[in-house]
Amino acid sequence: MKELVFATNNAHKLEEVRRMVGDRFLIRSLADIGCYDDIPETADTLAGNALIKARWVKEKYGYDCFADDTGLMVDALGGAPGVYTARFAGEHCTPDDNVTRLLQVMEGKTDRRARFSTVIALILDGREQIMEGTVEGEISDSRRGDDGFGYDPVFIPEDTGLTFAQMGPDAKNAISHRGRAIARLLQALSR
Ligand code: IMP
Repeated sequence: MKELVFATNNAHKLEEVRRMVGDRFLIRSLADIGCYDDIPETADTLAGNALIKARWVKEKYGYDCFADDTGLMVDALGGAPGVYTARFAGEHCTPDDNVTRLLQVMEGKTDRRARFSTVIALILDGREQIMEGTVEGEISDSRRGDDGFGYDPVFIPEDTGLTFAQMGPDAKNAISHRGRAIARLLQALSR
């Protein structure tokens, strides 16, 4: 089976991506290639951060790979937290701290529209490619559901009435930002 490195050690992301890729590729994590580096995410765009991670793996470890970066853009917050989504509640915060902060700053707001975007940077055969996936939705007023990770308990993708955390993994992958970006990645890999 062909192998490809996904530049992450996030178990939730690996599980989502492996579920979509199936037996087309063996997806290896950073730990699988012996990379435990704290890769700096210093760019001011999602694409910039995805490229930093993918180039790091290619340059330091020699593997063709892909990396992703995700942002949550909330209309009532002027598009924040955006590229700072992972650090919304502070530099060393937990995902749960982020959700608490988001619910706090959204308290009483009637415009709850938001979108998730994932950008994937692929480095393959000496070429860099960028793919994106976005899902529109809104922020719920409290946590709902136990599945998924990160902001899933408070993000309701449009036309569903359920948070990502209330859906099974296949239903989330079918419509999610990452699912859409991975679908484009699979197209690029089959060319
Ligand atoms: P990154 O892609 O690891 O940089 O993710 C940025 C932030 O978005 C982190 O706080 C993640 O927990 C969160 N995040 C990424 N993907 C998802 C998702 O699919 N659902 C909910 N939160 C996510």
